[in-house]
Amino acid sequence: MTLKVAIIGRPNVGKSTLFNRLVGKKLALVDDQPGVTRDRRYGKARLGHLTFTVIDTAGLEDAFDGSVEGKMRQQSEIAFEDCDVALFLIDARAGLSPLDKHFADWLRKRKKPVHVIANKHEGKAQDPGLYEAYGLGLGDVAPISSEHGQGMELLIDILLPYWKDDRQKERDARKAEQAELVRAASEASSDEDDSDGDDSTDDDDDFDGDDLPDDLGDILTSAEEEGEFDEDDEEDADDLPRDKGKIQLAIIGRPNVGKSTLMNQLLKENRVMTGPQAGLTRDAIAVDWSFDGREIRLVDTAGMRRKKKIDDRVEKLSVSDTLRVIRYAQVAVLMIDATNTIDKQDLTIARMVLEEGRALIIGVNKWDLVEDKPAYMKHLSDTLESSFAQARGIPIVTLSALTGRGSDRIMPSVLEIYDIWSRRIPTSQLNRWLEVVTERHLPPVISGRRIRLRYMTQAKARPPSFFINCSKAAELPESYTRYLINGLREDFNMPGVPIRIFVRSSE
Ligand code: GDP
Ligand code: GDP
Repeated sequence: MTLKVAIIGRPNVGKSTLFNRLVGKKLALVDDQPGVTRDRRYGKARLGHLTFTVIDTAGLEDAFDGSVEGKMRQQSEIAFEDCDVALFLIDARAGLSPLDKHFADWLRKRKKPVHVIANKHEGKAQDPGLYEAYGLGLGDVAPISSEHGQGMELLIDILLPYWKDDRQKERDARKAEQAELVRAASEASSDEDDSDGDDSTDDDDDFDGDDLPDDLGDILTSAEEEGEFDEDDEEDADDLPRDKGKIQLAIIGRPNVGKSTLMNQLLKENRVMTGPQAGLTRDAIAVDWSFDGREIRLVDTAGMRRKKKIDDRVEKLSVSDTLRVIRYAQVAVLMIDATNTIDKQDLTIARMVLEEGRALIIGVNKWDLVEDKPAYMKHLSDTLESSFAQARGIPIVTLSALTGRGSDRIMPSVLEIYDIWSRRIPTSQLNRWLEVVTERHLPPVISGRRIRLRYMTQAKARPPSFFINCSKAAELPESYTRYLINGLREDFNMPGVPIRIFVRSSE
């Protein structure tokens, strides 16, 4: 049920170039093997925090020989068949050709949504195609340069509503699936495997982000004890206002990255009329609103609102303040300042969020000041990739909190990561999965006997945490646990959130 986006247009307008930019070079190369016949190329695309499937029709022109119209119709139909929305590319520099106009006529008759994209626009105002394109009768025209990565934020704006619809459908499907499971479970309650106790099924609605030991070592040494997963309440964030029904959100980051500016922007966008209720607690305030039908509570602490020092000393990051807010939060938006390279403090805060088991979003702020946006994105993704291999897919939102551009993408991202963070996977699915992955990559042999992973269950959500019943748990190498974590993340689609696995032996 992923959103499918088709790129269509006459030859040479830049379809492949856009495709490659959206999916990243590596993937495109894999698809480009010579001699492989293909009528469409599919790629997994990522644009800001949006992920979708992109369908490219480039290369098709060689496959048909008939009339010009015949060609274009076949090309378009193949992609259209399968997409939710189409991007119709024209060449802004060359201006419109008769073939573009044929395309437009044909597209206007179709029911699927189409957006006109004027490619090869590298900021030259006089590009003829850009203005001619408005005459196509297909609505607004978005100028971009696929080759230079310009205007990608316009594509995000265009695709965001479709992406949201898609997410909603996914959420609905997941809810239906869960309802079905609950129903099935209540009908047939006899076949539960109880070898691991029943600590897996009754904590859906509790916020229980950090009541698990976060170190695998802890659980290995205390493996024989029962009850180590009792639902302790958090002790650290006692003076922060909590509310079980609400998604608890915090905005964190070094001084001066734009946290307060973003908070104000969010409050403005979400028309929070009541204003912060000060004095709720000693030094924290909370602001509530709802977004997309979900209740949100944003906490702001005195430490974070502290007025700038009178003298010009650089404000210091208060680690304890930050930690306190992280512990309060379920989702933390880590703001970084895109006019600087990512520094150690940014990474430290990100690591704290993941170690505390919270969901993380990275807000790349002051985007308005960044000149070479592609270079910054590369820097950012390389840094994240090398620093947080264990939490691949952390959502990234570029924005300007000052102008508000992009700040409306924060909340959809928050809801999405919150849902992933809260995900529950049925035991039956987990055990089928466990069978497959342990076959694919056998666990090691220890003193003549292979370690056996017998049974798996989700101990809790928030963050997704799993128990595996295993022979010789203490001998299972960490690399194997990592393999399982990566597999879970991929196969159950849980990008960007911390995932925990606890192994223990029943002998
Ligand atoms: P396709 O036939 O529609 O897939 O077009 P290609 O992606 O193969 O691009 C055709 C040509 O246009 C290539 O030489 C690209 O390098 C060039 N091109 C693509 N996008 C841009 C752009 O944004 N700016 C400029 N100046 N050239 C581009
Ligand atoms: P905080 O210390 O993290 O809360 O940062 P502030 O919200 O106080 O912002 C620090 C400075 O950065 C202020 O001068 C803001 O006006 C400026 N700022 C914040 N967001 C942006 C942005 O998106 N673009 C630009 N150009 N400046 C910003």
